[in-house]
Amino acid sequence: MIQSIRDFFRGFLLLELLQGLALTGSYLFRRKLTVRYPEEKAPLSPRFRGLHALRRYPNGEERCIGCKLCEAVCPAQAITIETAQREDGTRRTTRYDIDMTKCIYCGFCEESCPVDSIVETAIYEYHGETRGDLHYTKEMLLAVGDRYEESIARDRAKDSAYR
Ligand code: SF4
Ligand code: SF4
Repeated sequence: MIQSIRDFFRGFLLLELLQGLALTGSYLFRRKLTVRYPEEKAPLSPRFRGLHALRRYPNGEERCIGCKLCEAVCPAQAITIETAQREDGTRRTTRYDIDMTKCIYCGFCEESCPVDSIVETAIYEYHGETRGDLHYTKEMLLAVGDRYEESIARDRAKDSAYR
């Protein structure tokens, strides 16, 4: 009975509404945690797992040796690799595709790579308008690596103590 009377007055005096407004108002003068994306961007960890890239050595030679470890470890079976032997006896990929619509960005591919070839970059602003746009070929992945090598190398260096 006493509880019912108390509830009646709480509702009648709109106490809960006022408590809610007070809580909202208390945030008016606190430090703002939101950013105005895309003009402002939140800082990213060097371990951020975004768009994939295939890297080259400084002399232009592609790092990938076609060992297929990344293809074997990928839980989403998003990677398809075909390889062939070159005239100099080394093995290289003739096909390296990643279907980004399957990828779950787990990072297993880059963890498994013995030569730091396949990596996940800090790039997260990319999209496709058709399913095919998110099917990345070897040429596309190498182009991402060529374009962003500087930031990729910088992020690897920052994280090197923990790898
Ligand atoms: S990040 Fe994970 S799911 Fe995506 S390609 Fe690499 S191993 Fe496969
Ligand atoms: S990217 Fe790395 S793990 Fe994958 S096939 Fe090439 S060398 Fe092997």
